[in-house]
Amino acid sequence: MKQNNVIRAMTRDGAARILVINSTEMVNEAIRFHKTAPTATAALGRVMTAASLMGTMLKEKNDKLTLKFKGDGIAGSIIAVSDYMGNTKGYIQNPEADLPLKANGKLDVGGIVGAGDLCVIRDEGIGDPQTGFSRIVTGEIAEDLCAYFAQSEQIPTVCSLGVLVDTDLSCRAAGGILLQLLPFADEETVVKIEENLPLMNNVSGMIDGGMTPEDILARIMTGIEYDVFDDFRAEYRCDCSRDRILDALSCFSDAELDDTFADKDTIEVCCHFCDQKYIFTREDIVSNRR
Ligand SMILES: [Zn+2]
Repeated sequence: MKQNNVIRAMTRDGAARILVINSTEMVNEAIRFHKTAPTATAALGRVMTAASLMGTMLKEKNDKLTLKFKGDGIAGSIIAVSDYMGNTKGYIQNPEADLPLKANGKLDVGGIVGAGDLCVIRDEGIGDPQTGFSRIVTGEIAEDLCAYFAQSEQIPTVCSLGVLVDTDLSCRAAGGILLQLLPFADEETVVKIEENLPLMNNVSGMIDGGMTPEDILARIMTGIEYDVFDDFRAEYRCDCSRDRILDALSCFSDAELDDTFADKDTIEVCCHFCDQKYIFTREDIVSNRR
């Protein structure tokens, strides 16, 4: 049995909810699928870590959350999709995006993301998905999300995301903390949370040092009473299927199919998120039409 890596808690007075994840394995799976360069690993890893935490705040079992950064930097678009248990898949348009380290020795995530918009889509399976937008502030992901929550959802949010890339290009440690104040938060608790904010920095360093999500939670809640709701396991998970891809292909017209199958009997479609390959004949596609 693998260890649980997500913990959900709330301050005892109900002022804030706190989520902590160790996403190291999830990010290593992303590296395995996308063969990312270090800066791309950090960018994709932070977006996936954030999406996973936001996914755990969805209401229903079949809800999905998509977090998309569309900047003008060399990374191109970065997308992560999470379910309500925080299981997440991710994609970066340019996995080779990489820049020299910044003066402070950190990976230049903001540099490869660039300026643009971020978008959050919550799909509840029925009706139109709810979509929120905001501008990318720094491209460092955590700051951008705090701005998103403040502007688009009016929820005061503190977010810390970290991805530590090792010299062999694997992810040495990755994790995230998301803290949100709930309406009518008690002033005294808010002050204590603000005092503790510096303790939330360097989440990947804490994980690298051997701290569990529970240890991290205890540290950032120093002096504040809290209750743990639950803990569970979130991992890299792709929900693609042959049927779903076939449905997407079924909207091609006869002319488009003539073109596609002009010189071959089968086509291969590769899932962007997990590299799974699916092979279809023209007959497969035509017979799936309604
Ligand atoms: Zn897939």
